[in-house]
This record gives sequence, C-alpha cells and structure tokens, in this order.
Amino acid sequence: MTDTTSYGFDTLAIHAGAEPDPATGARQVPIYQTTAYVFRDADHAAKLFNLQEVGYIYSRLTNPTVSALANRVCALEGGAGAVCCSSGHAAQIMALFPLMGPGLNIVASTRLYGGTLTQFSQTIKRFGWSAKFVDFDDLAAVEAAVDDNTRAIFCETIANPGGYITDLDAIAAIADKVGLPLIVDNTTATPYLCKPIEHGATLVVHSATKYLTGNGTVTGGVVVDSGKFDWSASGKFPSLSEPEPAYHGLAFHPALGAMAFTFHSIAVGLRDLGMTMNPQGAHYTLMGIETLALRMQRHVENAVAVARWLEADPRVETVTYAGLDSNPYADRIPRICPKGAGALFTFGLKGGYDACVKLIDNMKLFSHVANLGDTRSLIIHPASTTHRQLAEADQIKAGAGPNVVRVSIGIEDLADIIADLDQAMTAATA
Ligand SMILES: *Cc1c(COP(=O)(O)O)cnc(C)c1O
Repeated sequence: MTDTTSYGFDTLAIHAGAEPDPATGARQVPIYQTTAYVFRDADHAAKLFNLQEVGYIYSRLTNPTVSALANRVCALEGGAGAVCCSSGHAAQIMALFPLMGPGLNIVASTRLYGGTLTQFSQTIKRFGWSAKFVDFDDLAAVEAAVDDNTRAIFCETIANPGGYITDLDAIAAIADKVGLPLIVDNTTATPYLCKPIEHGATLVVHSATKYLTGNGTVTGGVVVDSGKFDWSASGKFPSLSEPEPAYHGLAFHPALGAMAFTFHSIAVGLRDLGMTMNPQGAHYTLMGIETLALRMQRHVENAVAVARWLEADPRVETVTYAGLDSNPYADRIPRICPKGAGALFTFGLKGGYDACVKLIDNMKLFSHVANLGDTRSLIIHPASTTHRQLAEADQIKAGAGPNVVRVSIGIEDLADIIADLDQAMTAATA
C-alpha cells in the first residue's frame, strides 16, 4: 500500500487500502470471489504457510477484497493492523480469543449493546470465560473489579442505546495502571467521530453492519489493533507470547512486533474459528466507507435537531442524547467526540410503555427494525426486543428501560423526520 499516513480522514476513507488492481488496473477494489490462490511452486506454498512470506492461501484466512477493507479501517482508526470478521459479534469473540482462557474474566461496562450483554453474560461462559459488569462512571469500581484473572477491560465509545459517552481517557488510564488491554467497541461513533486509539485503547472493534457500511446491506465486523500493547510483559497472554503449539512453535510476540495480534488473529483465530468476512460483503463496506464522513456529518446534524425538537415538546418526558446541552455527558463531547455525539439515542413519552408501543406502530417514514446506523431513520423499543433477555433493572442500567424507544436518526430531510415523529406522537398520546 502507498504511504497514506499524511492524508486526511476523508481522503483515507476513499483511498486507504485500495491500490489500482495489479492485474487489470481496475480503479475500484474488485470482488475477489475466489476460495483459493495458485501457489507459484512448492517452495512458495511452504513459505506462505510458514508466515515467511505474506500472501494469499485460502479465503478463510485472507482475501484481497477483505484485506483492502481491513487496511482501510485500520488507517481510519490509526491502528497497526486489522482483521475483518463475519459480524460485529464475531469481532468481539475474535478480539477476546487470543487473550482469554478458561477461568479468566473481563471487566465490562453495564452500558453495552443488548446482544453484547447477552454474549458476555451468558454465551462466553461456555468457553469458561466470564464478565464482571461495572458502572464505568465509577472509576474506583472499575479498578476494584480487576483481579488476577482479568485479561481485558471492555466498553463502547457511545453506548448503545442510552446516549452515554464513555470517558475513554480515564478508563485507559486504569487499563494502563493495571497492565491490561482496553477494548473499545466504536460502532456507534465510527472513527469519524472518535478514534479510541488516540484515547489509549488497545483494540477497537466494529460492527461494520452499521455506519461503516451505512445502508443496511451486510453483516460484518472488524478488529483493529493499536500495536501498542506489550503482550509479553506480564506473562498473562501466553497465546501471544509463548510458543504456539498449533502454529509449529511460533511465539507471535515479540517476533511479529506490532503485528503480533493481527497475525495471530488470522493464522490461528480465522484459521480455527472461521468467522471470516466474505468478499462481497467487504466490497459493500468499502463502498460505504467512501461516504462515511459525509453521512456522519448529516446523521449528527439531523440527530441534534431532532433531539432539540423532542426536548422542547410537551408530550415528551425524557431525551437521552449526549449532544444536548442538558445531557450529563455533554461535557465529554469536545474531548471524546469533537465532531458530535452520533445519531443514536432514546426518548420517552409521557404515557410510558403504552405510549412507546403506540408510537412505534404509528411511524410511517421510520422503519421498525433491530438495526441501527442506516441511512434510513429507524426506531425500536429495546426493552421488548434487543434488551429483552435482561432483567428490568439491568435494562434500566443499560439505558433501555421499558419507558423509552431508541431511534437511529437517518440522513433524510430533517422536516420529513420531524413530521413523522410529530404525527406518530399525536396518535400515541391521543
Ligand atoms: C450491532 C452491534 C454489535 C453487533 O454487531 P453485529 O454485526 O450485529 O454482529 C455490537 N456492538 C454494537 C455497538 C452494535 O451496534
């Protein structure tokens, strides 16, 4: 790849990872719809399998279209390496896989995407892993939750769905103090609004399903490694620092330096877990990212205007959007998300649960879907859907209590978005 490090964000979003195709000169990244790659000879094949030469072997591991996307997201996040996965949830498992083992735990924020709360509180137990959930505004509690078996600290930049901004600098300082990697899910902010690595994150995970692709066409995920964590220092990360029996005794760190995590994720993670992104999906996400900056600007502009309109409306009880001056997290915006607080928030109507449900059933322009980060405006009632698996107290802690709806504000005409909310609110509160 040409050295693109001097380019600005909007240029990188279009050019990073994308050289003209070496075989044909094709300007756009081709969809390399192939499973395997012909080796030059037996020696070439052996070198590739030995990681002595970098190249393509089999598309479960790497594929040129998928690599272009990994390189683009890596450049936008300011990382050292990245690996694409089949979904955001796959990316979370791929991020934890090299760090974890039976009996080990992570310390995670209570304010997370509903599916992530379920993955961390239930499913990872099958691997012998566990999560301790803590209020990440209580810094002393975060530090106190870390024990000898903790291997990572996990949070979201803009927590879905409650309009909450994590103080990444403060959490990174704790991670640094206790010598653990900080993993940040940056799905709802995107690197346009926040680059967690600049705030001390070790790994950044994405659901590419959302804003990166931007129009609800694919499921995908990405793990970006900052390349800054010393995996060998504490002896706590043997998968990375000790000879790997499933990779003929290679110790990935420090042998592969800043690329140790990324190479391990490909050579062991994708090889054996197989949570691979497909080239067609990678192509759609590459297309999406080309317009990420323009879309995020409009998403934020519309979200601010809609949140202000809602806040001023007597039918509305609460609006939890960090982009409102009245929001308790508003003071974190200039430091963490200087270009805005995203476009995902919750609000509640007077009339509580019943009014929320009626509101959703009366929306016409908004789509009632479980997705977010689409060009279209979307709405859902988290307590009965995305956060349904949680007890009510945990729903409230996650910002998804029964009395709120979550909106993902799209990039349609502002007047049309507000008119739709207005008519549905009238019907819901009549
Ligand atoms: C959607 C989402 C995920 C999960 O991603 P999938 O691509 O649906 O697997 C994780 N974190 C956040 C913040 C999300 O919005």
